[in-house]
Amino acid sequence: MAPGQQKIQSQQKNAKKQAGQKKKQGHDQKAAAKAALIYTCTVCRTQMPDPKTFKQHFESKHPKTPLPPELADVQA
Ligand SMILES: [Zn+2]
Repeated sequence: MAPGQQKIQSQQKNAKKQAGQKKKQGHDQKAAAKAALIYTCTVCRTQMPDPKTFKQHFESKHPKTPLPPELADVQA
């Protein structure tokens, strides 16, 4: 193998590696965003990031529906 060729191969390898890292970061952000929306309204299926938002949503949108037990202790 000629020395020049080896350098080109090395650069290609690096480019491939960086592309792979970018892909992985994008995937992680997507997963984190998905993981952030962990509270799903039992009535309308709206997803919310925290119990406080969930309780406020529930009280304003579904006042006639009994509060889910996991929201009973939440201070909204
Ligand atoms: Zn709802």
